[in-house]
Amino acid sequence: CGIIGFSGPLTASTKPLEVCLQGLGRLEYRGYDSAGVALVAPGMHHIAYEKKAGRLSNLEKELERHPLPEATVGIGHTRWATNGEPSDVNAHPHLSADNRVAVIHNGIIENANKLKFDLQAKGINFISDTDTEVAAKLLGVVANQVEQEQGKANLMEAMRRTAKMLEGTFTLLAVDVREPQVVVGARHDSPLVVGEGDGESFLGSDVAAFVAYTNKAIEVGQDEVVRIEGGDIQITDFDGNSVEPQHFTVDWDA
Ligand code: GLU
Repeated sequence: CGIIGFSGPLTASTKPLEVCLQGLGRLEYRGYDSAGVALVAPGMHHIAYEKKAGRLSNLEKELERHPLPEATVGIGHTRWATNGEPSDVNAHPHLSADNRVAVIHNGIIENANKLKFDLQAKGINFISDTDTEVAAKLLGVVANQVEQEQGKANLMEAMRRTAKMLEGTFTLLAVDVREPQVVVGARHDSPLVVGEGDGESFLGSDVAAFVAYTNKAIEVGQDEVVRIEGGDIQITDFDGNSVEPQHFTVDWDA
């Protein structure tokens, strides 16, 4: 329902969680039933994450009890359940089978059952009832394939290939422990905007997610994929062709 992502300079290591929780607070007006965050830092082997059904304050209390490690990038989500009841396990983020990749999602993936069946046939287990977990497990498989082909992690290419396999509506954000400075997003029939900061970038389901930090924004177009790494922003279509960024200024105060 509400989506926020952040990538900043390597030195600002406490900021991703703060930005995500702030952003989710500003997206609360949309209504939601669960909330979660995923964080990545260099040297991590598994995604650091927390997710809870209920109010954002439930998540914040859980994070006080079980603090997450410092991180360089983060993604945050408030969920409005469509596939699977509101619960801790169905809350986002959802993880790949090897906990390498985390995904948050707005929308509904219509061919989730078919994709799930194919992934289960490859021996992949599912723990939630959501369509989003299917996207996460699929992205994990594709990310490993791409890394094997190219000799290094390339989450953006993995996201392009995954997006082409999904039917339905989606804004997706993903992080990968093998690219600890990067957040990748994709959209089809669901909105996604980029916020341009000073050496840092934001992704949001709407500008409210990051307007406290910057009023410079880029609209991500239909069927496009975006990659942020600090202040570096790349946008392509699902085939990998570069797209000229559509800049605009947000004209309301934080
Ligand atoms: N379909 C997904 C789910 O039920 C995402 C819902 C949303 O947009 O928050 O988990």
